[in-house]
Amino acid sequence: MMRYGWLLWLLLPISGFALERSWDEITVPSEGASSSIGSYANGCLAGGEELALDGTGYQVIRSQRNRYYGHQDMIQYLTDLARKVDRLGMGQLLVGDIAVPRGGRFTSGHASHQTGLDADIWLRLPNEPLTQQELQDPEPYPVVDIDRYRFKKDKWTSNHSLLIQVAAVDDRVARIFVHPLIKKQLCEVSWQERDWLRKVRPWWGHYYHFHVRLHCPNGGKQCVAQNAPPPGDGCGAELASWKPYIPEKKVSKSEKEVVKKKATPRPKYSECVVLLNEP
Ligand SMILES: [Zn+2]
Repeated sequence: MMRYGWLLWLLLPISGFALERSWDEITVPSEGASSSIGSYANGCLAGGEELALDGTGYQVIRSQRNRYYGHQDMIQYLTDLARKVDRLGMGQLLVGDIAVPRGGRFTSGHASHQTGLDADIWLRLPNEPLTQQELQDPEPYPVVDIDRYRFKKDKWTSNHSLLIQVAAVDDRVARIFVHPLIKKQLCEVSWQERDWLRKVRPWWGHYYHFHVRLHCPNGGKQCVAQNAPPPGDGCGAELASWKPYIPEKKVSKSEKEVVKKKATPRPKYSECVVLLNEP
């Protein structure tokens, strides 16, 4: 054994370099129960669960990106939501990014989705399941004309409003992000009960999908929660303050992303460093 002591020296720099691997390169979740560590935009996911690529009322899109892992609560939430959508005869949910197997930062795209508690759901509600080929590179369904900052009323249906309401009323949900013009549209509906609108938050970019964020799971001590949204339905002055200042990147059919390979920043939480390095 002693003879091979030098091997240790050889291995040490490798473990140092291991941090350079990105979260996207990890293909398997860690074992054990789901645990979300850190905050939505700076954390990781232990014991990630895989969302089956299709089930009652939904299909996973772009599975080649391997972003269909989440906290067990998220997987349960999504399957529950899809069943409701199916029961209501609203079409098929297209589930986009959740998280990579151990969470952490995506190499491309948004900064959140790091703890398995964020998921993107598309506003396209097909009546027929998409083919395997379509699923790899689906056609988006934008409801906002980004260049003119105009809501496409003809694209919006009552099913869209209902979908976001059904998604938001669930107690597991902390926030839902939609484009400010979608929020405005929802505000204009005379809902009998408007409490859930508080959770629906305006945010740029969400005009062909919406983003669901769940609360930190019960007993998840390492999960860093976000402050509750301000009281009220958020339909007044706050919404009015969202003006089209920020030029948005238009979505292209293929959404080809230029992947700039950057070194993965050292995770803030030691549990995440372990998850990133574990084989
Ligand atoms: Zn998202």
